[in-house]
Amino acid sequence: MIKTIFRNTFLVGISVLILCAALFFGVQYSQVQDQTYAALRQETIYAEQGLSLSGVDYLKTLDNTNRVTWIAGDGSVLYDSDYAMPVDNQLDCAEVQAALEEGEGQGTRRSDSSGKSTMYYAKRCPDGTVLRLSRPLGAVRQALIAVSPVFWVLVLVLLISGVLSFRAAKQIVRPINDMDLDHPETTYPELAPLVGKIQEQKMTIQEEVAQRESLRREFSANVSHELKTPLTSISGFAELIAEGVAEGEKAKEFSRDIYKESQRLLALIEDIIRLSKLDEEAVSPDHDKVDLYAVCSEVVDSLLPVAEKQMIDLQLTGVHAQVPGNSQLLSEMVYNLCDNAIKYNHTGGSVTVDVSLQDGSPRLSVSDTGIGIAPEHQKRVFERFYRVDKSHSKEIGGTGLGLSIVKHGAQYHGAQVKMESEPGIGTKIILEFPPSEE
Ligand code: ADP
Repeated sequence: MIKTIFRNTFLVGISVLILCAALFFGVQYSQVQDQTYAALRQETIYAEQGLSLSGVDYLKTLDNTNRVTWIAGDGSVLYDSDYAMPVDNQLDCAEVQAALEEGEGQGTRRSDSSGKSTMYYAKRCPDGTVLRLSRPLGAVRQALIAVSPVFWVLVLVLLISGVLSFRAAKQIVRPINDMDLDHPETTYPELAPLVGKIQEQKMTIQEEVAQRESLRREFSANVSHELKTPLTSISGFAELIAEGVAEGEKAKEFSRDIYKESQRLLALIEDIIRLSKLDEEAVSPDHDKVDLYAVCSEVVDSLLPVAEKQMIDLQLTGVHAQVPGNSQLLSEMVYNLCDNAIKYNHTGGSVTVDVSLQDGSPRLSVSDTGIGIAPEHQKRVFERFYRVDKSHSKEIGGTGLGLSIVKHGAQYHGAQVKMESEPGIGTKIILEFPPSEE
């Protein structure tokens, strides 16, 4: 930022200085030129008077700063201070022509004899001859060099303006760099909206962090509690078997209970790991094209034996739809939805999994004819460990995390989750994916 401010101010300074210098030297140049013509004119008048009084000898006494040429009315040169005679006819020269016609003439042109740019002033004498004085333009340039100290002053001003620009840039930026982001305040009223936004954002971040921390703590406490319950049962059953309290058929029954509780523990741990990965966004980010219908087909096949056991009609309908995403996570989400639709169903009920495309957006729905969810529970069932009927869920092997995984998985895929449910009639959960890009 310092660099940009410095560059801009310095550039403005330099441009202004260059413009001023050009203007100054331009004005100076034209002034010196005017003065030179005036001097030539004056000197020509003196020389003409001297010539009329003392003849050509007077011209010879003049100092040789200027070239003096005395020209006859036909252009032939009668005298030239710088060149030996004969000198070329001068009738073609513009200033001589002007002098002959109008009495006087002046102009700047390249001299035929010296080749240098020269300033001429010519005057017609009463006897019809022309007296001309000239001075090389270099003399004007010399006069300009006389004012060259001004140039050095400009360079000095440029250097000073550079240093000042740098200091100004630093001074402008300092309050911004020195800003205490914990208590942002600014000396610049223009920055007040930005500072306000920073403060607002900081508050939001703090709130989010606090909320996350509280959720994390709550989750840890819940996890500990959820893990403790099956472990307590396992430990109790094992103790009874070890002490020989349970024997024969009873021991077998306890062992089955131990197995069931261990399975629940494993399922719980798997779900916790999956959720932690989703929280840390550690799920593989490669967005492959996943065929949603194929995923559903695999899940339905794997759940058919479970559905049959409860005499539930499990069906898959719809079309092939591509979703960019993680196939393992999508499969887990579909599994959780179908598993719930079977678990919370009535014997002889039905479950329909449907994949469709609505205006190019893939859509998955899992509907069942089960127990349904009362409106007051419908939002909460997506919370971690929230169950409408805790003992029933545990009885049928639920972890209370299935729908949380669905919600997080949907977020990961940019999908919307919708629920339609009526107690005693059934539940339909819909996942609406963003339109596929093809
Ligand atoms: P769980 O492992 O207990 O099934 P979920 O997170 O999958 O945990 O579901 C949370 C709760 O939502 C369940 O305990 C159940 O009460 C309710 N629920 C989920 N799906 C259905 C459904 N299809 N029909 C009725 N209730 C459901």
